[in-house]
Amino acid sequence: TQRHKSSYTPPPARYGGRHTVTLIPGDGIGPELSKHVCELFRFCCVPVDFEVVNVDSTKDSEDDINNAIMAIRRNGVALKGNIETNHNLPPSYKSRNNLLRTHSGSVCQCDALPVSTRSEVTPDQHRHHHHQGEHRGRVQQPGARERTGSVECLKIITRTKSLRIADYALKPARAQGRRRVTACCKEVASGYPGITFDSMIVDNTTMQLVSRPQQFDVMVMPNLYGNVVSNVCAGLVGGPGLVPGANYGTDYAVFEAGTRNTGKSIANTNTANPTAMLLASCLLLDHLKLHAYASMLRRAILCTVTETRLHTADLGGHGSTSEVVRAIMSAVQSTGPRTLSI
Ligand code: ATP
Repeated sequence: TQRHKSSYTPPPARYGGRHTVTLIPGDGIGPELSKHVCELFRFCCVPVDFEVVNVDSTKDSEDDINNAIMAIRRNGVALKGNIETNHNLPPSYKSRNNLLRTHSGSVCQCDALPVSTRSEVTPDQHRHHHHQGEHRGRVQQPGARERTGSVECLKIITRTKSLRIADYALKPARAQGRRRVTACCKEVASGYPGITFDSMIVDNTTMQLVSRPQQFDVMVMPNLYGNVVSNVCAGLVGGPGLVPGANYGTDYAVFEAGTRNTGKSIANTNTANPTAMLLASCLLLDHLKLHAYASMLRRAILCTVTETRLHTADLGGHGSTSEVVRAIMSAVQSTGPRTLSI
């Protein structure tokens, strides 16, 4: 099998064992959820210092986004809220989210928690990997065609990146004992004989997902399909408030909610479900090899969702965001030591 440059080496801790992580609060519910992540990390004495970088989505200026990319490159890791894309700007205006995710392969991790009333999805976890393909900002309007009212959309698939993302999906799939990968990367899959590999076209995939989701385990696909399929899966397991996401590149890793919602309509109402963003912060901790902190937090988050059953409105409950966060803190206190040795 061809070997590819490993894309997920986390940056080492600074002196004293602390890590600096770029935090981009974003728009909508991003800032309030970011605050809760900081609060929880402080409460759990997580050795992470956040460097906050704001990206103003209302300005068509490159300064903010360049600063953010520089900060992420410097720290190697970031946590972000979704940045609103102003669709009134010309197609040449690139989505700030896509710029921050450039060079990354994106993963959306959909766990079926017992809270979900919308589907009985077993296996308990689907992972989707996507990167290559269609991106907003790569839509061109050549003059002649513009007059006829048509646009061209470039779909960019490179061999190198396809191989890298396929390897990236298959390596952890094997490490986690997964048995099935569904995608379009036969060549790389042949190097993983313990894993059943199959391919499926995207229209059938979405139908199969809705009718028989348990047949899937790990899925690999290009960017646009990934966005659509991630949202179908998130819907199946309980909605955008539950599923975390990650983007792993050669130079840095960026963590965020899996369905990348801004949640503008519920911003500043203390009603957003913090689970997706908090689980994304657990993926971040795992990436930094702070596994004990990641497990402690994840256990408390999942316990709050499935046992305490303190739910926000999206899950049919009456709990507020801050009440859920407080319940998670109590769960940490009752199960996890605050001074844990790792
Ligand atoms: P936008 O205009 O940016 O699309 P929106 O709030 O109208 O913002 P989305 O961000 O696309 O819509 O979110 C889709 C739906 O999911 C909305 O109804 C939003 O309230 C809900 N949603 C998104 N994130 C969460 C969350 N963390 N908790 C609860 N509901 C959420």
